[in-house]
Amino acid sequence: MTTGDLFVISAPSGAGKTTLLKRLFPSLNNIAFSVSHTTREPRPNEINGKDYYFVSDQEFSEMVEKDMFLEWAWVHNHRYGTSKKEVERLLSKGQDVILDIDVQGALNVKKKISSAVLIFILPPSIKELERRLRNRGTETEDEILLRLKNAKEEIKMVENYEFVVINDSLDEAVEGLKAIIISFRHRRSRVLSNTALCKSLGLLD
Ligand code: ADP
Ligand code: 5GP
Repeated sequence: MTTGDLFVISAPSGAGKTTLLKRLFPSLNNIAFSVSHTTREPRPNEINGKDYYFVSDQEFSEMVEKDMFLEWAWVHNHRYGTSKKEVERLLSKGQDVILDIDVQGALNVKKKISSAVLIFILPPSIKELERRLRNRGTETEDEILLRLKNAKEEIKMVENYEFVVINDSLDEAVEGLKAIIISFRHRRSRVLSNTALCKSLGLLD
């Protein structure tokens, strides 16, 4: 079986990461999304177990105590975490895995799993980011202002990321993201990790 790669995607809130990923998944096979746990309230269109596992503060604290997270962080006044079990389960199936996590989480994952590929999604401008956040209409004014303030700090973290996709035209951004993921599928080491293929080519007895 070939081994999948772990892709970590971050973006300032409102840059369009969720929209991009929703477009990406139906167009690529053998890829899975790691569903995070969060203490924030679900948005009207969000489904528990699909978008996030929505948990209480107490449940989250218990998971922290039991060391169940690969990483977790406070983001915009809520806690978010990636469960170790979830990532191990998905990677063990040999598929690519996507984590949609903030900049602190991305750096923590990279420290633990050095082969993780860090991808940053940027909006074309702060002005457009604000327009998108306001248009989405899922946060209060205070929350929007907090997300915009955090965005300016988060964007500076782009220098830690290996790949950058500007989400101006959605179609082009989806293609860019797809190209990054597909290129990893063609790394020699990954192609040759498929023992059945190597045997059929006479590279292995
Ligand atoms: P994030 O997950 O990064 O917080 P969303 O995917 O929720 O962001 O997108 C924020 C808003 O911007 C949504 O209303 C979405 O429809 C819109 N949006 C996303 N990508 C684009 C784009 N390329 N052009 C215009 N609007 C976009
Ligand atoms: P939102 O509330 O808009 O869904 O997400 C807010 C931020 O939390 C985004 O930057 C998102 O990537 C981040 N996030 C979501 N899940 C996790 C996680 O498991 N860990 C960390 N560190 N950040 C996360």
